[in-house]
Amino acid sequence: MPCERLPMGDGAVAIVCTRGRRVRQRCDEPGCHRPMVALCDWPVAGGTCSRRVCVGHQRHQVRNVDYCPTHARVGAMQLELASRWTGGIAP
Ligand SMILES: [Zn+2]
Ligand SMILES: [Zn+2]
Repeated sequence: MPCERLPMGDGAVAIVCTRGRRVRQRCDEPGCHRPMVALCDWPVAGGTCSRRVCVGHQRHQVRNVDYCPTHARVGAMQLELASRWTGGIAP
């Protein structure tokens, strides 16, 4: 059976033997082949973005909420805009 060595991102390597089981899904970022560890939780029409991200591309927000790099940027921009707005209204 073919066994795969999967770098986990922190120096550890997992050995995965795909004995007819589903191959572990890969990160969706272009050029990245690391195994996914999370799905993007960014809300989109009909659900969530669900982009698969590896440990290196995962942008952890709060407990059980992770974003892909793209949506982490959008989220940060919105937060900044929101803080500017509230900052303008607050005394
Ligand atoms: Zn990745
Ligand atoms: Zn996303």
